[in-house]
Amino acid sequence: MNNAIDSFKHKVNTMKNQHIARTIKIKNNRSGNLANKYNVILISIDTLRADHLSCYGYERNTSPYIDEFSQRCALFTNAFSTSAWTVPAHASLFTGMYASRLGLVQSPRPGILPEEIKTLAEILNQSGYNTAGFHGGGYVSANFGFNRGFSTYRSKGSRFEDNLRDCFGWLERHKKLPFFLFLHGFNCHVPFNPPRKFDIYSKGMRSTYNTNRKSIYAWEPLKNKEDLEFIIAKYDGEIKYTDFLIKKVVQKLEELHLIEKTIIIITSDHGEEFMEHGQLGHIRTLYEELIRIPLLVYIPFINSGKKIDKVVSLVDIPATILEILDAKYKHTSDGRSLLSLIKTSTHNSTSFVISETGKDPNKNIGDLPPRLGYEVPEFIRCVRTNEWKLILDKDNNPIELYCISKDPKERENVCNLELSMRDELYKLSKNLNLKSFREMKTIKESDINIDKIKHQLVALGYM
Ligand SMILES: [Zn+2]
Repeated sequence: MNNAIDSFKHKVNTMKNQHIARTIKIKNNRSGNLANKYNVILISIDTLRADHLSCYGYERNTSPYIDEFSQRCALFTNAFSTSAWTVPAHASLFTGMYASRLGLVQSPRPGILPEEIKTLAEILNQSGYNTAGFHGGGYVSANFGFNRGFSTYRSKGSRFEDNLRDCFGWLERHKKLPFFLFLHGFNCHVPFNPPRKFDIYSKGMRSTYNTNRKSIYAWEPLKNKEDLEFIIAKYDGEIKYTDFLIKKVVQKLEELHLIEKTIIIITSDHGEEFMEHGQLGHIRTLYEELIRIPLLVYIPFINSGKKIDKVVSLVDIPATILEILDAKYKHTSDGRSLLSLIKTSTHNSTSFVISETGKDPNKNIGDLPPRLGYEVPEFIRCVRTNEWKLILDKDNNPIELYCISKDPKERENVCNLELSMRDELYKLSKNLNLKSFREMKTIKESDINIDKIKHQLVALGYM
């Protein structure tokens, strides 16, 4: 183990420098329009954990189309969200910044995306791109500033199918101009009620568990193992249906002759836990089932089909898109472009990613009810490398350490055993100068009117 730690320490010094550089500037400061006129489609499949897709090794054939499409993509096997819930994860996806740097971590009212931080949509819009978002509302709505930079930002329902018609109409009208399209749906979020044709895994199951919103968020107790299997079967049915809808999107691009002109990124904001660590749902923890997400990048001019195992994050996506488009814009980011990883067959650099979640104890309106007596923590942060994960509490004290390569299910906390590794990972986190929980509490109270989106949050089981 000592040799491994020494070698890791060596890598840590390199990583520290990489991160410092990244947070200052990722591109040079030349101005100008985007020379490359490729379109971009960014698809966020809410609540989709990576390990339930067949192309990520799941035993059920939940994603036949995404599997097939992945042969044309770079597939990142160790992609992580910056959080365990929707708002902070999307804030990172749109800005390339860690959520605590934006002040947007805590459930249920995280605040609004700070005005001074430019979003990817704003950069592309100012570069002459037509920008549109068709999304599921609720925690992805304009109330949190997510509409910034989008000429059109619309939701006719929480699921992909509610918005595809509008989305396809928009594509038909804008196919001649370079565009940036954000597509989002809550299909894999509770309630899990896939259409009958795709609800194939729960057939013949004996459970009477009701997977509608009321049951799952009021925490109807699981009576037996069959209940849990039933919920998972319903979730998998939703993935199967979502896979079918993704196929429709790609087919539409082919029909419009856009597939060779469009970069497509398929990802998620967080996963869902099914009692791996004693709970259902998301927000509460930072274990793998919640933060390991799918990430597929399709670039028409790069023949890929490659699997990349380096740890990467949602914060890397804006920088990646801007580099693919050869954007000459200054862009401050916690992320790094993944283009070199996609292009080259080998990549020697080591990296780490950060994920954060929490709850403001002073705000209880619209909060989630506790389940099994477990509350959302005030704040936790984790540092994840390819082999290790360290979890820190709100006062930045290390509390859990897992050797993921040996213990992928995070069963054995070695925080008091692997002290050297614990300290090295702790230093990585500290070096980023991310806001602490206490600093975030001083952020100006947001004027978000939750009532405006109350009906959407009710539908998703948050109120
Ligand atoms: Zn979400």
